[in-house]
Amino acid sequence: MSELNELYQETILEHNKNPRNFREIDDADKKAFGNNPLCGDALQVFVKMDGDTVGDVAFKGSGCAISKASASMMTQAVKGKTRDEADELFDEFHKMVTGEIDIESDDTQLGKLRVFAGVLEFPARVKCASLSWHTLNAALHEKEEISTE
Ligand code: ZN
Repeated sequence: MSELNELYQETILEHNKNPRNFREIDDADKKAFGNNPLCGDALQVFVKMDGDTVGDVAFKGSGCAISKASASMMTQAVKGKTRDEADELFDEFHKMVTGEIDIESDDTQLGKLRVFAGVLEFPARVKCASLSWHTLNAALHEKEEISTE
């Protein structure tokens, strides 16, 4: 677990400093606003569909390093995926950060996202890590606003 912890720290610092897809999509056809009042994270997720596929996805907003890094990696992970695949990844991510699946033994699609298993040791951070995923889910399912509270 300590190797994963180091990777967790590095990944979060790197994505926080240089977030991917940190912009608005002017002609987005889906968007949602997500809010985590416990920490003060607030972000907006934009999705541009290409048929049933996430053609483009981006986010804007402000929040702690974990919420921002997670949003950055979320956009990388779901771009090019179908809505069903994105839903499945959201489900796996959620189960991982709440400790419902063991990433060491379970066969998942999470790949690089597995570094966020590190938040399990910091329960207050689980909502930070999952905020962008909840917001993406809201956007894909036509809800405009979510709050993790
Ligand atoms: Zn946070």
